[in-house]
Amino acid sequence: MNSHKKKKNFLQTIDNEFETFQLCAMDYKVNERKRSLCLECGNQIRYGRTDKKFCCEDCRTRHHNNMAKAGRAFRNKVIGILNRNYEILDSLLEKGMDSAELVDIEMMGFVPGMSTSCRRSGKHNVFTCYDIKYILTRTKIFSIMKINNLSVNLRIGTELKDQ
Ligand SMILES: [Zn+2]
Repeated sequence: MNSHKKKKNFLQTIDNEFETFQLCAMDYKVNERKRSLCLECGNQIRYGRTDKKFCCEDCRTRHHNNMAKAGRAFRNKVIGILNRNYEILDSLLEKGMDSAELVDIEMMGFVPGMSTSCRRSGKHNVFTCYDIKYILTRTKIFSIMKINNLSVNLRIGTELKDQ
């Protein structure tokens, strides 16, 4: 490559970089404009600091209340799923069953991804749903049993360093 060509390539690179920079700057401006809209009502924020998120105190309060409500709704949904999982596991135990095909209990509404604890034991993953423990593989659930000593179980995951 001769020096003229090298210089041309170099200038091209600079050009490209400048173009990228301009695009980023445009993006930034668009984002800035977005940021100056109230997160709650969507109205333009007319005064105050540029990083202000709400147009007024009412919107701030309403937004935080809505977020808290959404958080509670999510936690309640998780608790609902855990309770249904528990009822399914409990109904199996009542029938004297300690194992099942995963597909069968999924049909009953069991959600494998939801448990109250999970630990590795040997080559298995041991899960609990409140006071019922079980081993889960990709296709099966087995060794379903009630945990007898609940006070011991509640210490799992809590490192009592002083003892
Ligand atoms: Zn607002």
